[in-house]
Amino acid sequence: MEEGLGGEEYLFKVVLIGDSAVGKSNLLSRFARNEFDPNNKATIGVEFLTQELEIDGKMIKAQIWDTAGQERFRAVTSAYYRGAVGALIVYDISRKTTFESVKRWLDELTSTFLHGPFVKHFSVWLNFIPTLEPDPSLGHKCSFGCTAHCETTVARMLVGNKCDLEDIRAVSMEDGKSLAEEEGLFFMETSALNSTNVQTAFEIVIREIYNNVS
Ligand code: GDP
Ligand code: MG
Repeated sequence: MEEGLGGEEYLFKVVLIGDSAVGKSNLLSRFARNEFDPNNKATIGVEFLTQELEIDGKMIKAQIWDTAGQERFRAVTSAYYRGAVGALIVYDISRKTTFESVKRWLDELTSTFLHGPFVKHFSVWLNFIPTLEPDPSLGHKCSFGCTAHCETTVARMLVGNKCDLEDIRAVSMEDGKSLAEEEGLFFMETSALNSTNVQTAFEIVIREIYNNVS
């Protein structure tokens, strides 16, 4: 099975969810391009960005999905979540309502995974390659040994973004931490503006996914 160093690649789909304007698109552009957009552009303009990193000598590609603004209408479809093995649930520390929405986002994530038809009916390869057949020449290792993994293991992190806005903070770090503990999530406060913890937040999630499947 093991092909040795260099012969093996992993591709993980990670989704960004959370209320509108919490900074999802900027977290992604900061992570993948080291860019920040001070203007309120609704979306990054693509469905996902791919970022490579190395863990334990393995090349990991994280395909990170950003919404196209549909969260404004609470209209994120199950297709968005399909095949995801990691999720960052983002709120804005300066807007309490965005924190109060976290539970709803978690519910949506969970119910999509538990009840979504795709889990049972599609091959895991569909997660990775937009054709119906796996393509071994791409060198992607199937990251799931069994269906059970698909159904249960999604690495999740609660992200309190805009931690640079300390002056107008509306959600304490303690409240963030305790919600994360309650729900069994990783937790981190970030700033896409000044880069605080952005790399770390994504890396922790990706590492956890890797641990879940290796
Ligand atoms: P999305 O709707 O969740 O994708 O949010 P955006 O990434 O479009 O960001 C919404 C607004 O918040 C934009 O005006 C960003 O410039 C701003 N923003 C995003 N991240 C941060 C941050 O970490 N700190 C501050 N101060 N503003 C941010
Ligand atoms: Mg956006």
